[in-house]
Amino acid sequence: MTKNAAYILELINDSTDHLTAEQIYLKLKEQNKKTVLATVYNNLSSLYEQGLIRKISVPGCSDRYDKIKRHDHLVCQKCGKLSDITLEDLTKSLQKQTRISILSYDLKINYLCSECQKKL
Ligand SMILES: [Zn+2]
Ligand SMILES: [Zn+2]
Repeated sequence: MTKNAAYILELINDSTDHLTAEQIYLKLKEQNKKTVLATVYNNLSSLYEQGLIRKISVPGCSDRYDKIKRHDHLVCQKCGKLSDITLEDLTKSLQKQTRISILSYDLKINYLCSECQKKL
């Protein structure tokens, strides 16, 4: 793994935010002024392909990157804000119901965050 990839992985694993490629790029730039955005994208896609990070796509928002540790997400339907929640692992129960073997799942629970609720 390159130094940049290792740094990006560490950044994602240490963060409780869900960082976009641009946010990662800005942090990387603080370390190394020569960093270009394409490097960040390349590293992110290779980390993703290796199964070391996960990617969260919400329509209308930039993709966000997250640690691999199993957890689920609340997604604000208005502003796209993501919050982590930890539910029990549903893999077994899903497998029982569908009788197929499940590799992974990506659960998003839609809600309105408190700021967006105030604006209603
Ligand atoms: Zn919101
Ligand atoms: Zn998360």
